Amino acid sequence: MQLRVAYANTGEEYVKRQGWQQATLSRCPLHPQGDCGFARHGTYARVSPPGTLITRYDCPEGHRTFSLLPDCYAARLSGQLSEVEDLVRAVEQAPSQAAACATLRLEIELPGVQRFVTRRVQAVHAALVVIKGLLPERFGLCAPTLLAFALVLGVSDVLVALRGIAEPWLQELPRPLGFSPRRQPGGGRDRARQHRAGADPPGLVA
Ligand SMILES: [Zn+2]
Repeated sequence: MQLRVAYANTGEEYVKRQGWQQATLSRCPLHPQGDCGFARHGTYARVSPPGTLITRYDCPEGHRTFSLLPDCYAARLSGQLSEVEDLVRAVEQAPSQAAACATLRLEIELPGVQRFVTRRVQAVHAALVVIKGLLPERFGLCAPTLLAFALVLGVSDVLVALRGIAEPWLQELPRPLGFSPRRQPGGGRDRARQHRAGADPPGLVA
């Protein structure tokens, strides 16, 4: 299970400062009263930025591990939320997704680019639709796009800001913003792959 670590900086800064050493969890989320053997359980590596380690805790009694994911990182996807945000914003501002793909310099084979972009755009927009419904007084009148949310929030990094704003619902919100392990809208064929990759795949590129 992934848990949020409030973090205002970039992944590069997190690596430089070895942020995983400061990421701590004082109590077991399943057993706040204690007595379950809850303890630190090492780290796992993420591919990007190189050197990233994520702190992990283990609850032996609940048979659960907890990963402490800083706000800058995309959940269940390689890289950072800022990279996802750049991509989705580029599509939102382009005349079409195909036009955006033509200008994006992605290090993937061309046939895969459309699918790569579609998955991210759909996942982010699906999360924004859910957040509109959860916080209608704040986002009810706003279009479910990063550009519209940026205007309402007055920030440039919308996805990072939403980690904090939508914290109570992160377990239900779709990746890469939220931590839901469920498959994404439009990504039906991903199910087997996600399952095989496990609960917390470092560096998974969907
Ligand atoms: Zn526990």
